[in-house]
Amino acid sequence: MDMNEKIPEIFAQQIFSEDVMRARLPKDVYKSLLHTIATGEEIDAGIADVVAGAMKDWAIERGATHFTHWFQPLTGVTAEKHDAFLSPVGHGKAIMEFSGKELIKGEPDASSFPSGGLRATFEARGYTAWDPASYAFVKDGSLYIPTAFCSYTGEALDSKTPLLRSMDAVSSAALRIVRLFGDTTTERITSTVGAEQEYFLIEESDFKARRDLFYCGRTLFGAPAVKGQELDDHYFGVLPPRVSEYMKELDRELWRLGISAKTKHNEAAPAQHELAPIYCTTNIAVDQNLLTMEYMRKLAPKYGMACLLAEKPFSGINGSGKHNNWSLATDTGKNLLKPGKKPAENKQFLLFLAATVKAVDEYQDLLRISAATAGNDCRLGGGEAPPSVISIFLGDELDMIVDSICCGSEYLKQDTKYMSLGVPSVPKVRQDTTDRNRTSPFAFTGNKFEFRMVGSSQNISLANTVLNTAVANSLTEFLEVLEGAEDFEAALDGLLRETFRRHRRILFSGNSYSKEWEAEAKERGLSNFKTSPEAYAHFTDEKNVALFTRFGVMTETEMKSRREIFFESYRKIKNIEARTMLEMTVRDYIPAVSRYVGELSASISARRGAVASADVSCESDIVEKLSALLAKTYTAYGELQRVENNAVKKATDEEAAFYYKDSVIPKMEALRRTVDAMEVLTAREAWPVPTYGDITFRI
Ligand code: ADP
Ligand code: MG
Repeated sequence: MDMNEKIPEIFAQQIFSEDVMRARLPKDVYKSLLHTIATGEEIDAGIADVVAGAMKDWAIERGATHFTHWFQPLTGVTAEKHDAFLSPVGHGKAIMEFSGKELIKGEPDASSFPSGGLRATFEARGYTAWDPASYAFVKDGSLYIPTAFCSYTGEALDSKTPLLRSMDAVSSAALRIVRLFGDTTTERITSTVGAEQEYFLIEESDFKARRDLFYCGRTLFGAPAVKGQELDDHYFGVLPPRVSEYMKELDRELWRLGISAKTKHNEAAPAQHELAPIYCTTNIAVDQNLLTMEYMRKLAPKYGMACLLAEKPFSGINGSGKHNNWSLATDTGKNLLKPGKKPAENKQFLLFLAATVKAVDEYQDLLRISAATAGNDCRLGGGEAPPSVISIFLGDELDMIVDSICCGSEYLKQDTKYMSLGVPSVPKVRQDTTDRNRTSPFAFTGNKFEFRMVGSSQNISLANTVLNTAVANSLTEFLEVLEGAEDFEAALDGLLRETFRRHRRILFSGNSYSKEWEAEAKERGLSNFKTSPEAYAHFTDEKNVALFTRFGVMTETEMKSRREIFFESYRKIKNIEARTMLEMTVRDYIPAVSRYVGELSASISARRGAVASADVSCESDIVEKLSALLAKTYTAYGELQRVENNAVKKATDEEAAFYYKDSVIPKMEALRRTVDAMEVLTAREAWPVPTYGDITFRI
């Protein structure tokens, strides 16, 4: 790492950015491409060859020999297949070639990607299509072209396609809304996202020493360490030197790719950290978040560490999430969720606010599903992360404004308050009109909403696809009332009042982690899907199919396939976890404890042999307890094996997923309890794997 590099010089060095396009493309081609990027309209096929040629030359200068269509199949991770630019021209010679056709379209074999029954294996063909709105980039000797991925029959098999469609949907609807407020210059409205990413860094040797970590990304066993996060001394604490070096390199690598990594700090749990980028257009933010996760994982071994992105790597301490900050912005740079100085009078803002409140209330189930994974189930509702009930926190000032709108009373603006710390040299600070609420799953944070439910390892596409589409739906319904209204002001006021009144139940400012809220939410009729399978079951509910098909974001077939894939991946993850537990139990824990009990027993005999009256009560007691626990462990092992075998036999993924939730997980928990009980009684050196204390405090 060259620390003398100037950041502005290396920033975006590896991406085929607008600046590069301007410098390298003929003017008309550049303009046409820019138009496509700005409007989302179809690319002019005639310019593709020119763009491809320029991209290739630029990439080769950066060491690229290959290109790849980079896509997001429904595995949750990205996929790539590399082709060399190389093209033999006879006589033992070759040139480097890259055509417009190769840029625009790829034909990977789709048969090994999840399709949820969309595609029989004999229909193996799939297509990737260039997303010009997300910059191509060079890394590891290849030119990466962000693409959408679909089946031979044209159904989306990826996360990007529905997201792009949802961005169009919200843009069209929002554009018509701003026109009603007299905006004639905006041409496109984009949803913007900044994804704060939490992660853990642990010693690589610890990672390799535990099969639960390297197969499942999280621990499936482990007694709590003596010290957890109770002293709150890790949060915002001094960065350990090795972590700091790692973060510096991570920042630089991301900057090169044009990802504006901005904030980094230690998070609440020991060994936990966070990185936040500056927000950008949603599809780019998604791509960038995927690259950020990739680099987090990839760089860690260079520093002798492993990066864990699982939602709950360790029980008993906080897990990791992703705060999906979301807003809408015009191409003229205006944030539509910015309240301004007088929010009560800013009707356009209030309308977008109302649209979001309505969207979140009406499609709470879809939002919940967008954050539902086997991994995130271990975190949500854990008293550290949002509960499984969706609600919105608006903050004091907006709460009062909404109250006054609902009651038809006048809103009296609070005076700006300044806080003095009683130290004259410390400047007075202006108090925000609202405090933060860390427990809300969906919080308004000044000029954007923060959806905090998404899991740390997830692709954030679905969450944003749901948000964009649901808000597009609210706006479209508003347009039916507002466009053509005789008295616009009156129609607008009536609409705001009616919308806030109808959807007020989703607003909640109290402690979302509390039991009382769960009960109250039930009374309010809010949905509460505690586990992923329960949530998935609702994905294709009539109203949800109606929403996505109305805006052409997903067809019913695409939704059904996704529903299948949700269950399928849940089943597979739980199956791997159960088998990992079984394997670790008989091959790691039982042999180790049995050996240790043998040693203690030998020591008892030896001591008794040497001194007949020796007090061996300590060893005897431990031998007795561990022997009982060994037997209990073996019984729990047998139980887990039995239910796991049943799970494998379930005919459908949906059935299996529910069976895992209801019958297998309880047996996994029971097995864990007895193994963890053995851990605290077994000599440190006899324990076969690194413990929680070792892992979370070593770096
Ligand atoms: P907070 O203190 O509320 O967490 P920050 O300013 O630290 O707010 O921002 C958190 C994240 O939200 C960052 O990634 C930031 O870029 C992003 N963000 C800020 N404004 C917007 C916006 N208008 N749309 C989307 N994300 C935004
Ligand atoms: Mg935040």
